[in-house]
Amino acid sequence: VVRCEQVGHVYRDDSGTEVTALAGVDLEVRPGEAVALVGPSGAGKSTLLTLLAGLVRPTSGRVVVAGQDLGALSERGLLRVRATSLGVVLQTPGRNLLPYATAQANVAFAQRSQRGTGPGGATEVGTLLESVGLGAVAHRAARHLSGGQQQRLALAVALAGNPPLLLADEPTSQLDRATGEIVLELMLQARDERGTALVVVTHDHEVSRRLDVEHTILDGRLA
Ligand code: ADP
Ligand code: ADP
Repeated sequence: VVRCEQVGHVYRDDSGTEVTALAGVDLEVRPGEAVALVGPSGAGKSTLLTLLAGLVRPTSGRVVVAGQDLGALSERGLLRVRATSLGVVLQTPGRNLLPYATAQANVAFAQRSQRGTGPGGATEVGTLLESVGLGAVAHRAARHLSGGQQQRLALAVALAGNPPLLLADEPTSQLDRATGEIVLELMLQARDERGTALVVVTHDHEVSRRLDVEHTILDGRLA
């Protein structure tokens, strides 16, 4: 579901200074595989996730997600891959949510706009909310949910289109241990029940230990 070949990324700031964030990265993620990306701050983890999300193009090499070479796609093509093949969960709970819409409306909206290509068919909105333990607050506005509830809702939104790949950037770092554990369990449940592949950037060894593979990034390279 992911194949990176010799991927490099160089940022150029306003003064023209170049920063090599990634160099020569080869990475393969199979359907249903849960991959942890670990490494020190500034190593390039977020850059790699951003490339996989099709938000930035690699400056060298190839990024293939769900069979699509992202570097070769038009903007429209990238939008399509993002809508059909990817779910994204960010560090800050609530970032990907519509704050004034109810939990139910958030998931329904995501489901209409995503139309996934992943294994299995569309899951009913209520079922999806139940599966992340939010059945009882389905009619509450997202902004009135607790941090942990918002992160679980973000996960339901990310999975609404049944994407083959879920990308998560420090999904538990702003949650307490018990709540983080719940969010991790829900991601693993998606892997087990839907065959969703997971790529999770994390500093938390408790999280990476529970995934299938751990890749360390040091100075822009896979160690
Ligand atoms: P990590 O997620 O592992 O902390 P990042 O991918 O955020 O690492 O950063 C990798 C390197 O790229 C760092 O040196 C960082 O300063 C640099 N970098 C990240 N984003 C930008 C940007 N938008 N412009 C310039 N340099 C950047
Ligand atoms: P987390 O998922 O962050 O651990 P919890 O689900 O434990 O959060 O929520 C903390 C408690 O606060 C729960 O009992 C939850 O039902 C309750 N709660 C959260 N938001 C509200 C609210 N707006 N009104 C009433 N109770 C709430």
